[in-house]
Amino acid sequence: MTDVRMTIDGEPSDAADGSRFESVNPLTGEGWASVPDATSEDVDRAMTAAGEAFPTWRALPGHERGELMRALADAMEDEAEQLAELETRDNGKVIRETHSQVGFAARNLRFFAGYADKLYGRTIPLDKPSVHDHTVRRPYGVVAVITAWNSPIALLCNKLPPALAAGNTVVVKPSEHASVTTCEIGRLVREVGFPPGVVNIVTGAGDVGAEVTGHPTTDKISFTGSPATARRIAAQASERLVPLTLELGGKSANIVFEDANLDHAVVGAVAGIFAAAGQSCVAGSRLLVQDDVYDTVVDAVVERARNIRLGDPLDPDTEMGPIANRPQFDRILELIEAARREGATLRAGGGEAAPPTVGDEGLFVQPTVFTDVDPSMRIATEEVFGPVLSVLSFSDEEEALEIANDSPYGLAGGVWTQNLARAFRVSGGLETGVLWVNTYRASAAQAPHGGVKASGYGRERGGEALDEYTYVQNRMFDFSESVSDPFAIRT
Ligand code: NDP
Repeated sequence: MTDVRMTIDGEPSDAADGSRFESVNPLTGEGWASVPDATSEDVDRAMTAAGEAFPTWRALPGHERGELMRALADAMEDEAEQLAELETRDNGKVIRETHSQVGFAARNLRFFAGYADKLYGRTIPLDKPSVHDHTVRRPYGVVAVITAWNSPIALLCNKLPPALAAGNTVVVKPSEHASVTTCEIGRLVREVGFPPGVVNIVTGAGDVGAEVTGHPTTDKISFTGSPATARRIAAQASERLVPLTLELGGKSANIVFEDANLDHAVVGAVAGIFAAAGQSCVAGSRLLVQDDVYDTVVDAVVERARNIRLGDPLDPDTEMGPIANRPQFDRILELIEAARREGATLRAGGGEAAPPTVGDEGLFVQPTVFTDVDPSMRIATEEVFGPVLSVLSFSDEEEALEIANDSPYGLAGGVWTQNLARAFRVSGGLETGVLWVNTYRASAAQAPHGGVKASGYGRERGGEALDEYTYVQNRMFDFSESVSDPFAIRT
C-alpha cells in the first residue's frame, strides 16, 4: 500500500484525527494507496496558512517566484516515470498519456514562470496632460483549486502555474478517486523550497472540496469537473461573490466534410473519442459526417474501434485502459443501454469488456460506436465521459452547424476539410471555446483552453489564463498645479 500525505503550511500532514481512505486501482479493483481524509480543522489550517503566506509571496520579486516554478518543473521531470506510473495506477489512464501529461505539466510551469516578472499593465493616455493613468494586475489572494480524477496532474498544472506566477497562494483539493499524484506534487513543492503556505494540498471527498471553496479565506475558485458540481460551487460562491473559473464537460462535434483528407479525419475521430477511453472534457463524442462520405468514414472508424488494444494501462502498447472508477463505469453502461433502447444502431462494442488478467476486476468498456443517432437521443445530448461515439449525418454546412450547436455544451469542436474558405466559415459558426481544423485533441501551453455555455467560463493556459488569477487596478494620478472646483474634477 502506497501512503501519501497532504501538504499544509509547508509540512507533510496527516488528517488531524488520523483518518484515511483507500484509493482503488481501476485495473485490479483493489485499494492500492492510502490517502488522508481531511477534517475541517485541516482545511482551516491550510486556508489560514495560504492567507498568511500571501503578502510575502506576492511581494517576492516575480523572477524569484518564476525560479521556484522552474525548480518544480525540473523536479517533476526528474520523477516523470514515477509520477506517470502512480497516476496510471490511480485512474487507469494509459502510461503513454500520463507520461506525456507530466511533460506537458512541466512545460506549463515553465511557460507561466516566464510571466511571473512580466505582469504588465497598460499606460492609458487621457485627455488632460496633467493626469496620468495606468493599470496594474494584482493577484486575488488565496485560490481554491478543485480538480477532477481524469487527469489530476495536467488539471492541477493548468491552474497552479498562472495562479502562482501572478502571486496568489493556493489550496488544492484533488478528486477522492485520484489524489495520489497531487499529494506527490505537494511533496515536490516542499522539496524544491516553496515558502510554507504558498501551496497547500488537502484530500478527502466532496465535502472537503465544499469546505475549501466555501471558506471565508477563499478569494478565487478554479474548478474542473461536472456542471452539476459547478452549479453547487457557484451557488455557494454567490454568497461572497467569489470569482470563478469553471472548466466543465462537453459534447463536442467532430465534423467531417466530403472534401476532407478522410484518412486523417478517421485518425482524428478515433483519437477524439477513444484516447483516454473517452474520459476527456474535449472528447469528440459526436461525429458528424457528410452524406457522400458517410459509409466510408463510418466503416473505417468502426474497423479501428474493433481493433483498439485494451489492456493493462502500464503496458506501453495498450491503447485503452479501464474506466477510472466504478460510478463512471456504471454511468457509461447506463448510457449505452439508453442508446439501444432509443433505437440507435450499434456498430461496435456495446458493453463491458473482459479485463486482460484473470482475477482483476477491471472496469473495461468496449470501444463503442452508434450510428443512426438522432440529435434528440440521450447519447447525442449527454456527456458520456467514456469510449462511446455517436455518429450523425448531415447534408450541408448549414445542417452541420445546426446539429453541432444544438447542445447545452460549448467546449470544443473539430472541422475536417481541405477547403480553406469552408474551414473559416464553419469555424466562425461554431459556438465553442476550442476549435480544431484538421486535427483534434492537440493542445499547447501557449494556447488558451475553455468553453462557453454549460462547458463553463474563463480560460486555462495561454496568456489569457493570467487574467483569471489577477484583477486590474486602475491608477489615476493628478499632477495639476491647482485644483479649486470640487464639482469639476474630471479628465
Ligand atoms: P465532480 O464534478 O463531482 O468532481 C470534481 C471535483 O469536485 C472533485 O475533486 C470533487 O471531489 C469536487 N467536489 C465535489 N463536490 C464538491 C463541492 N460541493 N464543492 C467543491 N468541490 C466539490 O465530478 P466527478 O468526479 O463526479 O465526475 C462526474 C462527471 O463530471 C463525469 O461523468 C464527467 O461528465 C464530468 N467530468 C468532467 C471533467 C472535465 O475535465 N471537465 C473531469 C471529470 C469529470 P470528490 O471527487 O472528492 O467528491
